[in-house]
Amino acid sequence: MTLYCLGSINADHVYAVPHLPAPGETLAATGLTRGLGGKGANQSVAAARAGARVVHIGAVGADGGWAVQRLAGFGVETDHIATCDAPTGHAIINVAPDGENAIVILPGANICQDPDRIAAALAGAGPGDTLLLQNETSHQAEAAALASARGLRVIYSAAPFALDALRAVLPHVSLVALNAVEAAQMRAALGSVGGAELVVTDGARGAVWHHGGQSLSVAAFPVVPVDTTGAGDCFIGSLAAALDRGLSRQDALRYAAAAAALQVTRPGTADAMPSRAQVEALLA
Ligand code: ADP
Repeated sequence: MTLYCLGSINADHVYAVPHLPAPGETLAATGLTRGLGGKGANQSVAAARAGARVVHIGAVGADGGWAVQRLAGFGVETDHIATCDAPTGHAIINVAPDGENAIVILPGANICQDPDRIAAALAGAGPGDTLLLQNETSHQAEAAALASARGLRVIYSAAPFALDALRAVLPHVSLVALNAVEAAQMRAALGSVGGAELVVTDGARGAVWHHGGQSLSVAAFPVVPVDTTGAGDCFIGSLAAALDRGLSRQDALRYAAAAAALQVTRPGTADAMPSRAQVEALLA
């Protein structure tokens, strides 16, 4: 079946800095790495590398052709990525020697989604297909409502966490995915995700899936991480792909945990997503 991902596409600029800049300080970076990022693009790549047919729905600016080509190079279908009159989204990521970071994001084209374009992208979708969303684009609630009306499974990766966005999307969602920090924010504000199922990831502690009063858990695979950026995106994209090919909740959790364990042993985000063969070798 098809996995549609309405999601952000960013140019990530990762600066190595001696410390995070203080207010008013001008600081020389010691290194720069540039790459494809954005939670949506990361999750699309993870799912495509896991073997799913992935149609990305999104927008870039006139300066974003390279990002679309990178997505296509990972096997993501890009026909429903529009070019609009705004700069491509980008992130300025400062990373200190101890790994602490501070990030500024320009949403840019990511918040120029258009309901008609989303509807056109989903025109052929139906039961068995999946819509995957994060909280870095505009028009998520409209997309979720349309997809659930068409009988799609709707998975919402509610990050970065924002209560209003979660509230708007929640009535249309089958599965919400949060990390442990976001889950605590959600529980403090809402108590629960209502009738939706909930997957909570917790770094090296693994993940738990709550559904219908029951819980399933998976331990993290023991690895030595080198860069955990994008671990959650790898986990969720891989989980969505595993469910798309009919795996049970438990098997999908195991697949996602194995994929994310491999991802954290490599530098980068989209570039670090493992292939299905690599994940299955770890699971064997
Ligand atoms: P996020 O990146 O959204 O903060 P998490 O840190 O919870 O997400 O990581 C998502 C998943 O990635 C975890 O549930 C786990 O399966 C895997 N993971 C993250 N960190 C590690 C680690 N150090 N070792 C093994 N697996 C990890």
